[in-house]
Amino acid sequence: MGETDESSIIPIPGSDAHRQPSPDKPQSWEKADRAQAALEGATGPEPPGPPVCPDCGLAGERRPTYYGAHVLLEPGLSAPAHMVPAWHRWYVDSNGIGWNSREDEPEPGAVCRIPHRIACPGLELEEIGLWRWLDAVRGENARHAQRKADEDAVPGALPDAG
Ligand SMILES: [Zn+2]
Repeated sequence: MGETDESSIIPIPGSDAHRQPSPDKPQSWEKADRAQAALEGATGPEPPGPPVCPDCGLAGERRPTYYGAHVLLEPGLSAPAHMVPAWHRWYVDSNGIGWNSREDEPEPGAVCRIPHRIACPGLELEEIGLWRWLDAVRGENARHAQRKADEDAVPGALPDAG
């Protein structure tokens, strides 16, 4: 239960090549954790802040990871894993912890979650141009973000109950 898989942390070439895992040096692990978080896109926002994307203002589904960082997943969206670019395939295990399957080829029929980052209308990611269905998701999010911005801009406006 809740075993951390520290043995799978990928060393970043050129950065701290002489790192020696040692209980006396928690800081080096912290650094490795941060590198892993950056690789996988588990870049928060961190609690106690709200689970809201800093780029577009939409709320996501925040999940902790086994290396301490948090990932903002696109809420309510699951996708066939083979339609999601490598390194962006996320899963939530029975502990509610998010994990990234990295470059591993998904099993046939596997379904995964995607990080909000690649569905975010506030970011331009070159690689996403190859994945047309993500364009549709981002377009939808752009409309949501715009509507939210419009509502925020008019404090006196009544919320649309319909
Ligand atoms: Zn966003």
